Amino acid sequence: MFSKVILVLEIIGYTVAFLVKEARYALRATVVRQQARWFGATAATERKRNIVIVGASFAGYHVARIIGRSLPPGSEYQCVVVEPSSHFRFTWVLPRFCVVKGHEQKAFIPYGGYIRGAPEGVVRWITGRVARVTAGSVKLDGDEGAELPYDFLVIATGSYVRQGLPSRVNDDDRNAGMSRMRAMQDAIESANSVVVVGGGAAGVEMATDVADLYPTKRVTLVHSKEAVMHRFGNPLREAAQEALDKLGVHVILDDRVVKEDAGAVTLRSGRTIGCDYLVNCAGQAPASDIVSSLSPTIISPTGHIRVRDTLQVADDGLTNVYACGDVAETEAPNPNARAAMRQACVVADNILEATQGRKARHKYRANWGDGVIKLTLGLHRSVIYIGDGIRHLLFRSKEKEITLMAAMSWSRMGQKPYEDPYVDGSPKPPFVEPSGKGP
Ligand SMILES: Cc1cc2nc3c(=O)[nH]c(=O)nc-3n(C[C@H](O)[C@H](O)[C@H](O)COP(=O)(O)OP(=O)(O)OC[C@H]3O[C@@H](n4cnc5c(N)ncnc54)[C@H](O)[C@@H]3O)c2cc1C
Repeated sequence: MFSKVILVLEIIGYTVAFLVKEARYALRATVVRQQARWFGATAATERKRNIVIVGASFAGYHVARIIGRSLPPGSEYQCVVVEPSSHFRFTWVLPRFCVVKGHEQKAFIPYGGYIRGAPEGVVRWITGRVARVTAGSVKLDGDEGAELPYDFLVIATGSYVRQGLPSRVNDDDRNAGMSRMRAMQDAIESANSVVVVGGGAAGVEMATDVADLYPTKRVTLVHSKEAVMHRFGNPLREAAQEALDKLGVHVILDDRVVKEDAGAVTLRSGRTIGCDYLVNCAGQAPASDIVSSLSPTIISPTGHIRVRDTLQVADDGLTNVYACGDVAETEAPNPNARAAMRQACVVADNILEATQGRKARHKYRANWGDGVIKLTLGLHRSVIYIGDGIRHLLFRSKEKEITLMAAMSWSRMGQKPYEDPYVDGSPKPPFVEPSGKGP
């Protein structure tokens, strides 16, 4: 009991430390904005030095927010964000919105609001994809892809999944992504038997949602490990298994799908299972290919980018190159958005110091608090799991909102839920100009 109280106190301390840091950034942003208002800011054309950020999701977008709102108005640096997607993708709701109809748009948050408040000209946004990184510049994708020089570089390209949904949206355009989500919803609705591959968070959430919404379908979850949610402690594994059992999901462990045929899949064990529709929730990999020719030593066997605790890549010749989020090899217990954003703070702080001529001194120390997880178990139930490997706490709760935390995330990203100027047929994806005070 005492150890659990300590655990709760520690997680409160972790949360307070995070909020204090956020408040400090907000205060600094206010000071910078006022200075820019009173004394003016360097024009975009005069900002000759680039801090290039590749990827604007939880890690990269947060780096852009902190640097963009903290650089002194008279700085010669510009923050250049390169991101191919028309919108920020709120991954947490993807499994749910691939099952439940009518909410797809809420997974796509317009870009811009989160960096609102940065003085004009500080952030330049490029809707594009980086094809290759060299020491000193990034090359954009396309036949005539521009070459963009950098003084500092942040690789925040996260992870990718070849098959895309429900773990990732592989279309850059929101409308294409929404169409694909609707196609998945329809396929699930019309299937009698659904096989979900992968017993991590996405697979468990997907299987329990399908079974809850369509109780007469035969839902099977196939997982290659000895328990679902195997990366977490026993209380969470048991809670997930119990919920799957209650909803009638047939769980097959220690096995994998090796062959797909019309109407059936074959497992490594030789078993055949009826399958009208297969949902693959496995196979996430770090998106590090763009740095493959930058340095022979920085990519680990898992494909992650090796970093030091300052989050500079592990190559003494590349002290101006940083990596953070899912793509970086850190000690984070369960790489997730929280860990990505904490790492983003370290990267931003170190780059801000470096722009003043100082050495990187901020360090990312993995904290078990980064691994706290909320897992939905069907449409109306969820659990929050807190564990440090020895002590565990599990809170069960009822979910009132079918859209989970989507509205809150829109607000946090500086957008009014669910207002989006991008309607079908818009010629160009929107980018909300970052003027005004910001969230
Ligand atoms: C289904 C699902 C549910 C999840 N639920 C939770 C949850 O509840 N809580 C939680 O904390 N975490 C959750 N996570 C984990 C969380 O989404 C990831 O840890 C987080 O997205 C990592 O952020 P990131 O910025 O490192 O990378 P990503 O989110 O993977 O983003 C990488 C970005 O880089 C861009 N990019 C990639 N390549 C290039 C290139 N060559 N040029 C330019 N840009 C590029 C991509 O377009 C993308 O915007 C979930 C993940 C999934 C899949």
